[in-house]
Amino acid sequence: MHGTQILDEADRLMTVCNSCRYCEGLCAVFPAMEMRRSFSDGDLNYLANLCHGCGACYVDCQFSPPHEFNVNVPQTLAIARADSYAAYTWPRACAGLFARNGLVISLTAAVSVAAFLFGFAAVSDPKLLYGINTGPGAFYALMPHNAMAALFGAAFLYAIIALTMSLRAFWRDIGEPIGMCADAPSLWQAVRDAGTLRYLDGGGVGCFNADDRPTDRRRLYHHLTFYGFALCFAATCVATLYHYLLAREAPYPWWDLPVVLGTLGGIGLLIGPIGLFVAKWRRDTALLDEARMGMDVAFIAMLFLTSLSGMALLLLRATPAMGPLLALHLGFVFALFITLPYGKFVHGLYRFAALVRYARERKVMAQGTAE
Ligand code: SF4
Ligand code: SF4
Repeated sequence: MHGTQILDEADRLMTVCNSCRYCEGLCAVFPAMEMRRSFSDGDLNYLANLCHGCGACYVDCQFSPPHEFNVNVPQTLAIARADSYAAYTWPRACAGLFARNGLVISLTAAVSVAAFLFGFAAVSDPKLLYGINTGPGAFYALMPHNAMAALFGAAFLYAIIALTMSLRAFWRDIGEPIGMCADAPSLWQAVRDAGTLRYLDGGGVGCFNADDRPTDRRRLYHHLTFYGFALCFAATCVATLYHYLLAREAPYPWWDLPVVLGTLGGIGLLIGPIGLFVAKWRRDTALLDEARMGMDVAFIAMLFLTSLSGMALLLLRATPAMGPLLALHLGFVFALFITLPYGKFVHGLYRFAALVRYARERKVMAQGTAE
């Protein structure tokens, strides 16, 4: 007996699959499963987060519905995976935020955007808020840089602490020692597997959709979203260094590094989330955890709106729209930061940790075989 019914079901499926082993070449889940004869809760959460949800094992399975064995690995692991986000969250009192997550994220975003819009209107000189301000320091005439750095720095620091504590709980529960960084080869292998989304390829043919025709589009849109996010983060880091090391204040000219990085990242964060949204709608519902669609869509929407407001600010910063757009963009960014530990963002961290563990297991097994 496991902690939840879905883990009991995952255990049943892994036991069936361990006897069958037809899918062992499709992804990392089946080889990792084969290294075990029984499954703890932590093992099943590890396998659930190792699964990329490509759907290949459902389409290939001779025991999938309507067969009486009712084997549906992608959907079962998707539900277990979403449950694991709440199970490991920090602080524990916030676990409930994963229930009706779409509503929680939407309300947080609405309150944050409203707070920035009303805040700007309350404390800014209307001539500044609705006037044309250009040149270095134009943003900070509306919100002082120190206030912006303190507010966003605190939100980001909280997100980092909460995510680290959640990841620590996951890592311990799947049975690994805390010092994973000590094993550099496994870490590097996981970086490569995550960076290329190696296991989102359905065993080489792509992800499966409602029409049973696999494509690589989901992987492409994931890449655009992930690397777009990374470029936007890099743009923020470079701008921070400009401010504190070179005493250069935003906004910067279009050719400057923070703007170039932010623009490229912003384009990725516009196209990627739209593509992921469309891809999600085209998928066979038999593969999905339909009850958590709100969580997935809310995260995609937050990334899209953050990017859209940032790109609009970039394009219209020399017009009277700059003030309201700055408030809008800061509202979305703040909401994104504080909800990072309590939404779909965590899937990237847990999956990466699962890939590190898988790389370690493979290495240990290869060493055992060689001896
Ligand atoms: S998913 Fe089906 S075909 Fe694949 S290993 Fe499991 S039981 Fe066998
Ligand atoms: S859905 Fe894809 S990634 Fe998940 S277990 Fe099946 S084949 Fe592996």
